[in-house]
Amino acid sequence: MDLYRVETYLKPASLTEVSGWQADWNWLAGGTWIFNQVQPQVKTLVDMQRLGWSAIDVTSAGLSIGATCIQNDVLNFSFPTDWPGAKALKDAVRELASFKLSHAATVGGNICLALTASTFAPVMVALQAKYEIWRLAGEPYWVDAADFQTAPQQTVLQPGEVLRSIEISSANLTQWQTRFKRMAVCTAGYAIAIVVTAYHPQTQQVRFGLGGSVPAPCLIEFDTLPTPEQMGAALQKKIFLEDERGSAVYRQHITQVLMQRCLAELTMGTLGACRY
Ligand SMILES: Cc1cc2nc3c(=O)[nH]c(=O)nc-3n(C[C@H](O)[C@H](O)[C@H](O)COP(=O)(O)OP(=O)(O)OC[C@H]3O[C@@H](n4cnc5c(N)ncnc54)[C@H](O)[C@@H]3O)c2cc1C
Repeated sequence: MDLYRVETYLKPASLTEVSGWQADWNWLAGGTWIFNQVQPQVKTLVDMQRLGWSAIDVTSAGLSIGATCIQNDVLNFSFPTDWPGAKALKDAVRELASFKLSHAATVGGNICLALTASTFAPVMVALQAKYEIWRLAGEPYWVDAADFQTAPQQTVLQPGEVLRSIEISSANLTQWQTRFKRMAVCTAGYAIAIVVTAYHPQTQQVRFGLGGSVPAPCLIEFDTLPTPEQMGAALQKKIFLEDERGSAVYRQHITQVLMQRCLAELTMGTLGACRY
């Protein structure tokens, strides 16, 4: 796609080189979305490639993913073997389906683009990730993954603010097991429902990160294993998308089916019989 209105291309080595942010400036990460769509509002691209942010770090606190990390690097990374929670991060790449996207697009680009079908956002919600936001002037600040996206393709980011990193605590990666389920109308189609489930086998707490079916990823939590009726009641309180891919009622139904399938897999072996 030729972005015919772009007049300026910046490639800073540090954010300190970026000043005078204007409404028609745009961050450029992997470029898979920006160069795929007409962008009449964009006159300046600020390329993040040279910022040199580390891709993936395992720290004493847990996991840090730089926003410019290429999605496929998550798939290829050897996470500690006692981190069952990390499975969902790899699933977020596998479920994207497209070789081209996963090898060029960044994790931060996926989260900031804030598509309803984002495969990473519900994972981050289920794993209670926190996002570090940098401002061109002012102190960085943190946002919970569940609060970052406010609507389809809308986030809390203000002009010039940038997602710097995603942090997940080691407790969320070591103590929680995860499952990722996604449903689309056709195999490689746009998701109509995504459910990422995190399950704590010792306490039997459950967290569901929902995407695809709702305007922005959201969290549903239970202190003990929920019954199908409890899951249904929690879903009743959510607003579901309605479009040519599926009605709100259908999306809600499919979401509950995926929640139950996740729990059936996660609790297999710990419960006497499958409740789901
Ligand atoms: C045809 C098509 C279909 C797709 N379908 C799906 C899908 O079904 N599921 C899915 O999960 N993804 C889907 N994607 C999205 C894809 O996975 C990428 O995540 C997405 O294209 C953006 O990644 P990028 O790094 O290339 O970002 P870019 O294209 O460079 O940027 C995307 C947007 O995010 C902003 N941005 C990027 N990084 C940051 C940052 N760190 N801080 C602030 N703003 C930032 C940019 O300014 C821009 O507005 C699709 C993309 C395309 C092109």
